[in-house]
Amino acid sequence: MTPETVARLRRDTPACETLLHFNNAGAALIADPVHQTVLDYLDAERRMGGYEAEAALAPRLDRFYTGFAELLGGEPSEIAYAESATRAWDSVFYGLDWREGDEVIIHVSDYGSNTLSLLQMQARKGIVIRECPSDETGQIDVLALDRMIGPRTRLVALSHIPTQGGMVNPAAAVGCVTRDHGVFYLLDACQSLGQVEVDVQAIGCDALSGTGRKFLRGPRGTGVLWVSKAAIGRLDPPFIDGHSARVVGDGFDWEPGAKRFEAFEQNYAGKAGLARAVDYALEVGMPVIAARIAGLAATLRAELSARPGVTVRDQGERKGGIVTFTVEDRPSRGIVEALRAKGINTSLSYARWAPKDFARRHLPEMVRASVHAYNTEDEIERFIAALDTL
Ligand SMILES: *Cc1c(COP(=O)(O)O)cnc(C)c1O
Repeated sequence: MTPETVARLRRDTPACETLLHFNNAGAALIADPVHQTVLDYLDAERRMGGYEAEAALAPRLDRFYTGFAELLGGEPSEIAYAESATRAWDSVFYGLDWREGDEVIIHVSDYGSNTLSLLQMQARKGIVIRECPSDETGQIDVLALDRMIGPRTRLVALSHIPTQGGMVNPAAAVGCVTRDHGVFYLLDACQSLGQVEVDVQAIGCDALSGTGRKFLRGPRGTGVLWVSKAAIGRLDPPFIDGHSARVVGDGFDWEPGAKRFEAFEQNYAGKAGLARAVDYALEVGMPVIAARIAGLAATLRAELSARPGVTVRDQGERKGGIVTFTVEDRPSRGIVEALRAKGINTSLSYARWAPKDFARRHLPEMVRASVHAYNTEDEIERFIAALDTL
């Protein structure tokens, strides 16, 4: 990334002047053009009325679909607005026709809320949850996955970039295997959208969920679902309303495309804002953003590892922008609080959000420092210096 681009990113993110924000895996700082889009949208609603603003600003809202199609390599009709990544993921998971004995294959790195859905379905329908082992780097073992898939396997569900660590799971290698077997592949791309390049064709997933507020730098309360054209008909959306379906005679028809997964009522200002955030990422360029984030995180990991008493906890062959660590004899919770008092945002990574991984690796609570492209080497130095003074 050129120094000019970094300067532009920081200019567009005024909080950079006063805040050291390493909590981009929680919620990244939104850029000014995104902020302005949300304000403009709310202003239009205030001046015209909500339905009238929706009609007047239809092109901005349509950009949600074409923008995500561009970002993900899909088609606009395969995109649905969702209120969060979890609800997008749920639309697919609860849309599959689960029968007793059906198997779902997951990985230990999965997101906690997804795990809960599986457990709920296990209790409701008696599905069987099978865990694919990790390879020696900690990522999902793709060869083992290939051997595990059997006649009862209905779904492979994977977190592309787990919430609790720096690893990037080999999503495309998993896609090769699931395609071979014709098994449904649901990818949780919540931490990867806006952080790394995500191309649904190259990955070979059937559906993908993401959120607005994390590396995409969109407003809170927004998310996205992509479902491939071929997979849409294999799902029975868990909710229905007059936007997603229509009454026909004594029955009903779903709307064509991924619209059937949407609710009528949406956070329109947020949707317009997230569409702008996608354009912002496309303008800067995902390959450039991804390289910058990975580079900064590698520097941060190296600096932290060189500190006595600090243990970096990230796994995986390929690592992204999430850096997790612990400090000997210092509870992570206290570190996060002390840093925040100094104007440095990180977050706490703890068992609730990745219960299987924390249990398996006997992990204590960890500090999660997650960088974005607008962060700098200078901020990393300040971060390390601040840690040293604690
Ligand atoms: C944050 C996160 C989610 C949940 O996203 P929401 O928008 O809060 O529903 C899902 N998966 C992963 C890997 C996450 O990090």
